[in-house]
Amino acid sequence: LDTHIAPYVGVNGDIKGVITVLHDITEIRRLEKIRSEFVANVSHELKTPITSLKGFSETLLDGAMHDPEVTKSFLTIIHDESERLHRLITDILHLSKIEQHQIPFHPEPLDVIKVIYETVETMQEELNKKQLTITLPEEDPVIIDAEKDRLRQIILNLIANAITYTPEKGSIEIKLDDEEEKIKIHVKDSGIGIAKEDLPRIFERFYRVDKARSRNSGGTGLGLAIVKHLVESHNGAIEVDSEEGKGTEFTIILPKKQY
Ligand code: ADP
Repeated sequence: LDTHIAPYVGVNGDIKGVITVLHDITEIRRLEKIRSEFVANVSHELKTPITSLKGFSETLLDGAMHDPEVTKSFLTIIHDESERLHRLITDILHLSKIEQHQIPFHPEPLDVIKVIYETVETMQEELNKKQLTITLPEEDPVIIDAEKDRLRQIILNLIANAITYTPEKGSIEIKLDDEEEKIKIHVKDSGIGIAKEDLPRIFERFYRVDKARSRNSGGTGLGLAIVKHLVESHNGAIEVDSEEGKGTEFTIILPKKQY
């Protein structure tokens, strides 16, 4: 609490009372704390790939490059880590722009089903690689007010996670409930699931249940934080239901009209 006290002086100069102004600065402090934690997290996340880039390139320069096998495997690591670093920076910038409302929001009527089909199309290779079965909603158009790029990103991030966290030969199901004023998009997988104690935290930036697994799959820990922001920018909501070892279901609720 931030307190300001000032005397209340009468016409003849004597003090008649005291005015006390109380500001609740808990919220400001809380936001400051979140911000400084974020900066610390970003620095840490950026340092990890850079340390690895530095280490592997130094080892190559120190002589390891005379062995073509070693050179190839180290260069592969350097390449993958550079890509992860690139993704990380793109995600961080994207998130900070959305948070600061720097990106104008122009929703327009569009067919969600079409966006779902187009997005899945771009992920077919990864789905095939893991032999995952994907079930999609019927192809009849469902029109809502939304921004195409944001909607695509929401669906893409959820399917990408379903692919990452589902073992080979598993299944992914996308369903759509078309209600009077809103739609619900369900993305359900038969994957590893998320423990109850982790569920409330998965939308936090950089929160990962298993850091090593996420990192190996190229994850940045920002995907769901971005999804949540994008959904909320459409005045929607996101829910998650999961059982460890059984699978996870994310539900996106979007209003059909943006007024
Ligand atoms: P990441 O880049 O690590 O996937 P996200 O923000 O997309 O970051 O997800 C945060 C964490 O939530 C993941 O690290 C993972 O532990 C968990 N998670 C997200 N989606 C799923 C899913 N479909 N099944 C199991 N765990 C998931």
